[in-house]
Amino acid sequence: MATQTSGGPVYDSVLDAVGATPLVRLGRIVPDGGAPVWVKTEGTNPGGSVKDRAAVAMVRAAEESGALRHGGTIVEGTSGNTGVGLAMVAAARGYRAVLVVPDRTTPEKIALLRAYGAEVVTTPGLVPKQDPRHVQQLAARIAAETPGGWLADQYGNPANPDVHEHTTGPEIWTQTGGRVTHLVAGAGTGGTVTGAGRYLSARGVQVVAADPWTSRYGGGDGSPYAVEAVGHYLHPLTETDTWPAVYDTAVPNRTERVDDGESLRTLRRLAREEGLLVGGSGGLAVAAALRVSAQAGPDGLVVAVLPDSGRIYLSRYFDDARLRTLGFLDAPQGPLVRDAVGPYEPGLRVAPATATVAEVRAGLGDGPLPDLVPVVQPRTTDATTWAVPDVVGCVRVAELAGLAADDRVGAHAGPPPVTVGHGEGLDEALTRLDADGVGSGDPVLVLVDGRAVTQVHRSDLRR
Ligand code: PMP
Repeated sequence: MATQTSGGPVYDSVLDAVGATPLVRLGRIVPDGGAPVWVKTEGTNPGGSVKDRAAVAMVRAAEESGALRHGGTIVEGTSGNTGVGLAMVAAARGYRAVLVVPDRTTPEKIALLRAYGAEVVTTPGLVPKQDPRHVQQLAARIAAETPGGWLADQYGNPANPDVHEHTTGPEIWTQTGGRVTHLVAGAGTGGTVTGAGRYLSARGVQVVAADPWTSRYGGGDGSPYAVEAVGHYLHPLTETDTWPAVYDTAVPNRTERVDDGESLRTLRRLAREEGLLVGGSGGLAVAAALRVSAQAGPDGLVVAVLPDSGRIYLSRYFDDARLRTLGFLDAPQGPLVRDAVGPYEPGLRVAPATATVAEVRAGLGDGPLPDLVPVVQPRTTDATTWAVPDVVGCVRVAELAGLAADDRVGAHAGPPPVTVGHGEGLDEALTRLDADGVGSGDPVLVLVDGRAVTQVHRSDLRR
């Protein structure tokens, strides 16, 4: 319940403060002649993200159906914003919350969940979906074995898309006075784009799903990407690639695929040129929205959903030195690594950890052999893992001959090779390699936008 006053609303509970988020008109980064782009700032929700809406709605629906009763326990597998939303609802409504998170979840995120009084259970993040230790499998088991346990199941719970159909979509329609022509939103569970999209497309709005380049949703290969909490990864050992039941892929009219580099650079422009500090999925959505704006022209009105704030990603997306070593940013001054590397042949040979020694040997073909083959994956099904670069190890080509032909290379992989970003300052990179004890004949992988593109020797990196 809210009491409206001229100073703003007064609520009985923090949960009533979820939703009714501001729209902000982008001022400086919209292309000339393009449609205006307005952004829905979901980071202003009290738990910090769009997932507060789903958390409140799922719990209310469970209370109404009797699935969740007084003294009950809310269980979910999530390291992300849904966990925070559920922890907040559990605290406000007096439930216990048990959240299962992948072991690579940052200590800050675990601390955030615990700060709300939630119990956190960690489990390996790099396992296929059918493995009983998989985040979602383990959460389902805990919910079933806990008396009064209730699994929120954001991927299958219809209250998730429904809340966006009943709140997010209508808010956007009202806030734009019915003038919105395009909705742009990323899809994690797909709840936002399905629900808000359903409401708005019934009113003639074009719905555009923004998707990381390699995500399966938009037709990518399912390999890892840097933007967290959206898109769909595919672990190579996952037997059946199931998509969330709540994502109605018929709702978006089309998908804009955006690579990590463009998403990260857009996100940084949002902070520096618009004063909007948002997470990676907000950078992705705005990158797609800027394209849609250019296509729609001045008569359109594009609304992009910014799902959360950038505060919990400072060490990911706003650490310039780290982004340079990953090949996302250029050093302010040259010479750069790419000046020393020069032109390279595209198509660096890499081996999935699951490939056999014989397959890798055959894949090398004729011609000059590289020193090592980077081993990529295991890909992760955990949508909150910073899985870039995607190289997890390497095998030395000289050692392949001594290995059993049908062994998997993953079992023989040594530590990942040293990497440098192509836009890293050359001196900066060399200082780092020296500190790591890299010898002049040692191989070094060069990264562009978090992906290995070529292999050089330390001695090639000369001014
Ligand atoms: N961005 C962020 C930061 C999120 O946490 C989520 C939820 N996983 C999304 C986008 C996607 O929202 P949805 O689950 O509604 O598709």
